[in-house]
Amino acid sequence: MARVKPERLLIVVSAPSGAGKTTLCEQAVRRLPRLVHSVSYTTRPPRPDERDGRDYHFVDEATFRRMVAEGAFAEWATVHGHLYGTSRKDLEAHWAAGNDAILDIDTQGAAILRGKFRDGIFVFILPPSVAQLEARLRSRRTDAPEEIARRLAKARTEMAAYPEYEYVVVNDDVERAVGVLCAIITAERSKSRRFIPGPGLATAE
Ligand code: 5GP
Repeated sequence: MARVKPERLLIVVSAPSGAGKTTLCEQAVRRLPRLVHSVSYTTRPPRPDERDGRDYHFVDEATFRRMVAEGAFAEWATVHGHLYGTSRKDLEAHWAAGNDAILDIDTQGAAILRGKFRDGIFVFILPPSVAQLEARLRSRRTDAPEEIARRLAKARTEMAAYPEYEYVVVNDDVERAVGVLCAIITAERSKSRRFIPGPGLATAE
């Protein structure tokens, strides 16, 4: 079983679509040093405000399938009819650069990583209510009504997966929820088994 180097973290964040997970991850990256968002690959077409390389690496299905065959993904899944995957090489590059990686992925991808990284930190973001989730999805205005209905139906089944995660953050208030997410990461970073003492802290035998 692969192991994250003790001092480097893999933080996996899942949530039903519209629970505000992207904002929470972005804010955590802005607030905490040495935390980077791993940019996924997808075959979904970009939304108007999205940029290639920043929000996703947008690729065609042939490219994605070739990457799958080459073993390029640490995990990949079909979500809402499109393919999404996390590049193994990107993750390793983040850790090699001394950063912790935060992944915003669905419950299928999280289940795959749970089997591969025993030190991974799994966080589930819940909306305060299903009604709020629906309102958020509708206010986004970037998806067609059938797409919204599809995402809402999937959200209901995804929410049932929260007990498989170590941590749950209810996104009732963005400021509070970002604070909780940052606190989880900070606490995980402070675990004694991840501590590597410097020369000034050598203890007597
Ligand atoms: P969206 O199309 O709204 O950006 O994302 C749809 C869903 O795909 C979200 O639940 C998001 O977390 C998930 N997703 C994004 N990137 C990945 C990935 O690399 N792997 C997996 N398994 N899911 C992903």
